[in-house]
Amino acid sequence: MRDSSAFQPRLTRSGEEEFERCLRPARFRDFLGQERLLEPLEVMIRAAMERSETLEHLLFSGLPGLGKTSLALALAAELGTPLKVTSGPALERAKDLVGILSSLDQGTVLFIDEIHRLPKVVEEYLYGAMEGFRIEFTLDQGVHARLLKLDIKPFTLVGATTREALLSSPFRSRFGQVFRFEPYSEESLQRILERSAGILGVPCAPEALAVLAEHSRGTPRVANRLLRRARDVAQVEADGRIEASVVERTFQLLGIDEHGLERADRKVLEALARAEGRPLGLKNLAVATDEEEDTLADVHEPWLIRRGFLARTPQGRVLQEAGWELLGLRPPEAT
Ligand code: ADP
Repeated sequence: MRDSSAFQPRLTRSGEEEFERCLRPARFRDFLGQERLLEPLEVMIRAAMERSETLEHLLFSGLPGLGKTSLALALAAELGTPLKVTSGPALERAKDLVGILSSLDQGTVLFIDEIHRLPKVVEEYLYGAMEGFRIEFTLDQGVHARLLKLDIKPFTLVGATTREALLSSPFRSRFGQVFRFEPYSEESLQRILERSAGILGVPCAPEALAVLAEHSRGTPRVANRLLRRARDVAQVEADGRIEASVVERTFQLLGIDEHGLERADRKVLEALARAEGRPLGLKNLAVATDEEEDTLADVHEPWLIRRGFLARTPQGRVLQEAGWELLGLRPPEAT
């Protein structure tokens, strides 16, 4: 198998991205937790390799930061194949897709992030490429129109989505397997934090990592972000070691309260309380909290729902008993 570092995508060098890049698990053995996903995937890989076939197309579904990109990168490294990374919004026109597909080497893992944001016309071109490794498109218009057929080298499409429900069923059915990423256990997050701290060379007390894991919302990206902030605090205000007191101070600076709520979470709960039990739609909630709709739906709400503070109903979001209690308020009497 080839050196996986060659397959890391080039990212712009903002601090956050650089940090993510260096902590990304490069191989399956570094991809911690999620054994439920890895085991069947390893079987699929072995079977495809033994038959000298290209691995079937895969769909990775789950909330942001759960490791979809990391697993796609590690997958290419395990297969020893080239990797091409793009995203739904970047493939604006069919031409963009044709350009990428026609340049793929045999067996390439083509990773399309946010695949639910692929424009419909581009998606339809992709169907033929996924099924028969061929695309047909019309060149010119009117009497000069010509139908061109382009053969593509067999490749594996790995699509990642935070909104699986937005994919049309013909599209979904073209994937050989859907892998659904679940939030990580605190134990897995602690192992991820230990690995990250080791890579960064930051000494940490195990109990400090346990508290970081507990407040990571089941998400490795959040865990690594909190670790990074705690590393700053340890460096500036302590002797460089992350102790429980450093974590406590970090949470204080980040506005994370004793329930693990961030400021934005609290704003959501307070907006719902102001609605006095009436359900609020996502749009209204975004206006009331001054947050992006996607951030609310993908980052804050899933955690608040898991904690039992709010519920999504067909009419909108409503505060639950535990949410009222946390705010120290009583739910309005049912009429
Ligand atoms: P997604 O594509 O689902 O948004 P990423 O793959 O970008 O998530 O993961 C975000 C970060 O979390 C990565 O940079 C990596 O450091 C870390 N990470 C995610 N999953 C794992 C895992 N299973 N083991 C170790 N680190 C992980």
